[in-house]
Amino acid sequence: MHEPNIKRILLVEDEIAHAELIRRSFETEADRFHLTIAYTLRDAEGWLERETFDLVFTDFLLPDGNGIDLIRTVKGEPLYPVIMLTSHGNEQIAVETLKAGAVDYVVKSDQTFREMPSIARRTLREWDHILSRRRAEAELRESEQRFRIMLEFASEGILLIDQDYRVLMVNRYVEQVSGYSRDQLLGKPLSKLLPEVERIGELYPGDDLLQETPIHRSRRAIELEAMHIDQTRFPVELSLTPMTIGGERLLMCFLFDITERKQLEEQRLYTQALELELSKERELIELRDRFTSMISHEFRAPLSIIASSVQMIINYHDRLSKENVLERLQGITVQVHEMVALLNDVLEVSRNNVQQPDFKPAPLDIVAFCRKHLENVLLIDEQRHDFTFHADGQWIIMADPRLLEHIFVNLLTNAMKYSPEDTTITITLSESDGYVRIQVKDEGIGIPAEDQPHLFKAFYRARNAAQAHGTGLGLAIVRRNVELHGGSISFESVEGKGSTFTVSLPMPG
Ligand code: ADP
Repeated sequence: MHEPNIKRILLVEDEIAHAELIRRSFETEADRFHLTIAYTLRDAEGWLERETFDLVFTDFLLPDGNGIDLIRTVKGEPLYPVIMLTSHGNEQIAVETLKAGAVDYVVKSDQTFREMPSIARRTLREWDHILSRRRAEAELRESEQRFRIMLEFASEGILLIDQDYRVLMVNRYVEQVSGYSRDQLLGKPLSKLLPEVERIGELYPGDDLLQETPIHRSRRAIELEAMHIDQTRFPVELSLTPMTIGGERLLMCFLFDITERKQLEEQRLYTQALELELSKERELIELRDRFTSMISHEFRAPLSIIASSVQMIINYHDRLSKENVLERLQGITVQVHEMVALLNDVLEVSRNNVQQPDFKPAPLDIVAFCRKHLENVLLIDEQRHDFTFHADGQWIIMADPRLLEHIFVNLLTNAMKYSPEDTTITITLSESDGYVRIQVKDEGIGIPAEDQPHLFKAFYRARNAAQAHGTGLGLAIVRRNVELHGGSISFESVEGKGSTFTVSLPMPG
């Protein structure tokens, strides 16, 4: 075993006198160097096989060969430092040995023999530098290689382009998705692959992409079309990172084929459209069912009254008094009027699907308006309910009186229709956030929770509404009228407890 800080030197010298001189020069350095002497090439090779030396001094000409044979290289790099000892005037040989991988040569003389230890020291120092540089280079090569592999096999396309949008580098992904080989793209304009290349500007609108280092920026992406070698186009997502490499401003482009994603998206949109169509169809079927059920209820009753009155007149006209006949005829007229009104409502709703009704807003004192129409409703109610009216202000709004009347009267008649006698119906007018609110509150049958989401649909009637006549059209028309005014309608209701309908209408500017 040798101490690690003692360097091992192999001296190969067939001239015993020279070897002796060199050995002596190292004597004083025994704490730093350990010298082994070989006199022939074979001898030296034997030593090198068995042991490791930090430095080899070898004579060029040996009895059984040439000192050059002791130089060992791997990929052109010497494994250990060899210093060739040459005779004076043999510089040509010296150059050859350097080419073969010797680190230095020494022309033999008494002086150089004496200087051997310092030559050894210097050479070992230099060798250390060489080794650490080699290590650093190897590490760099390795990390470069790792980086290359990473780029090459990345699961997205990576391209390096210069300021003129010329392709400097592409990875395998780009080759795979575009069908182009690397050689077909390198040095070519990026537009070959991305015909809409000018859209890159969208990634950094308003500033010069190449002048700024966007470390602080999040990676933005745009979708655009890429061109396959077979001239078909396919969608890609593209993002960029400007960078400086070797003093040159370059752009690193990241590209991802989104064909599949697009297809899925299209599929989803298609399914959505289908679902919408289906739900529309279902809605129509429901509407038709509600319409049929409404017609069979609401038209059958007046028609049978009309039919029976007519039959009565036909059968008994000679026995009926004139007043009696007149009374029947008046009854028929009332029923006909009701049916006409009903038909008008149906028409209004169905027309609404095609065209908007006339909307003629005019300044209107909303409190006075509601009071006036409440009076009319009171006449119809014949004191079956208690009405209270609150208005803590006076407001002029822009409204169409015909449409507003429908809104107000409909809410009041519903409150009456769906509330038992002697309950209270409260009308409150107030203002907040630029809207006038008309609230109609009753203590009636309320609306079952499961019917509430559908209440504004045409012909829709809650399951507890059968006790009163109705078409399910009123609220649909009310909502449309409210919306024409730029307002909104909502309600709160608990079955068996009562309902509150609130209409909000905007105040002028
Ligand atoms: P209808 O002619 O049936 O009254 P509307 O469109 O005015 O039609 O109302 C739709 C449904 O809403 C009614 O059938 C009823 O079930 C429910 N509804 C409306 N207003 C009230 C109310 N104040 N109380 C309870 N239910 C109501």
